[in-house]
Amino acid sequence: MNRKRNFNAGPAALPLPALERAREELLDFAKSGMSVMEHSHRGKEYEAVHDEAIALLRELLGVPESYDVLLVQGGASQLFAQVPMNLVEKGQTAEYVVSGAWGEKALSEGKAAAAMLGGAARVACTTAVGEGKDKKYLRVPLPSEVKASPDAAYLHVTSNETIHGVQYEVDPSRPFPATGKVPLVADMSSDFLWRKFDVSRFGLVYAGAQKNIGPSGVVVLLVSKELVAKGRKDIPKIFQLRTPAENKSLYNTPPTFGIYMVRNVLAWLKGTGGLAAMEAQNRKKAARLYGVVDRNASFYRCPVEKESRSVMNVVFRLPSEQYEERFIAESKKRDMVGLKGHRSVGGIRASTYNAVQPEWVEELAAFMEEFAQRG
Ligand code: PMP
Repeated sequence: MNRKRNFNAGPAALPLPALERAREELLDFAKSGMSVMEHSHRGKEYEAVHDEAIALLRELLGVPESYDVLLVQGGASQLFAQVPMNLVEKGQTAEYVVSGAWGEKALSEGKAAAAMLGGAARVACTTAVGEGKDKKYLRVPLPSEVKASPDAAYLHVTSNETIHGVQYEVDPSRPFPATGKVPLVADMSSDFLWRKFDVSRFGLVYAGAQKNIGPSGVVVLLVSKELVAKGRKDIPKIFQLRTPAENKSLYNTPPTFGIYMVRNVLAWLKGTGGLAAMEAQNRKKAARLYGVVDRNASFYRCPVEKESRSVMNVVFRLPSEQYEERFIAESKKRDMVGLKGHRSVGGIRASTYNAVQPEWVEELAAFMEEFAQRG
């Protein structure tokens, strides 16, 4: 078997040991004579996996007792609507920091959901430059640029913009904004589980699984119990965050195989040394690629300001689109896949999530050096 060097932005590379474990356990899970997919979500076999996944998330991230760890379905996109449905009271406004395409989407859904419930959503700060087709996002804001109104329902940030490659807190000068008593809400879909962070600074964090956590179909939430309790009760039960919180994320049938895979990934992550080791490795991988870009500045160009450059999604341009097409085509011949930038921005994007092996990054870096020298 020839496994590809997978630089996809998500669904992304999964750790081989997690996949191999699934292969081994597929037909006969826990000596039960059935696969995990065929078990009842109320049975002890599945429940053990479910509990282990949640316990591992708590342990790896150091989640305080005063926070719930929830597993829900619908993708991060569903949370764009579900968060305001829970947290915006009538007459209240939710505020958004927009530093890329996903922040724009979150805001747009926030507006629709809040308006439906007698509230509103608005931009607190945007780092967009230019308009229409020429609009660009090159950085996260400085703390001084973001002021949440004291009566805002929450302030929402996208901690890593997967398409534009801009990320908070990769440089100490670009921390998450301070919000005082206003809850800070973060979409951490492409920023989750590669480093430890202070969960208590956030009211709510959500992340789609298909980058660092597991397969698509699962969303992980960390949410303060206080916010869960305050959540609206006049929305359908299935959307209330208290529903998974009060039912151990087993109110209705969860995506059992997806959560099983999340368990496998988390167990692998713990076995590799946890988040401190993973952060060091990821920073090295990204630095290797940005290093090639900066050393070959007459050929490659990273549009993102240095202090905001993402450790998860390394984006860069070549001298022309023709060069970029050739770069993609040649990389494919070397078994490297997923390097094409998002269709809305073009260019090259190398996603360097946890399961992307340092050797693949080394191969990519060597290819980039060679390609630039050939010119
Ligand atoms: N937020 C971010 C930062 C993302 O990268 C993505 C998906 N790439 C989403 C939200 C949407 O996730 P989903 O497709 O799971 O709804």
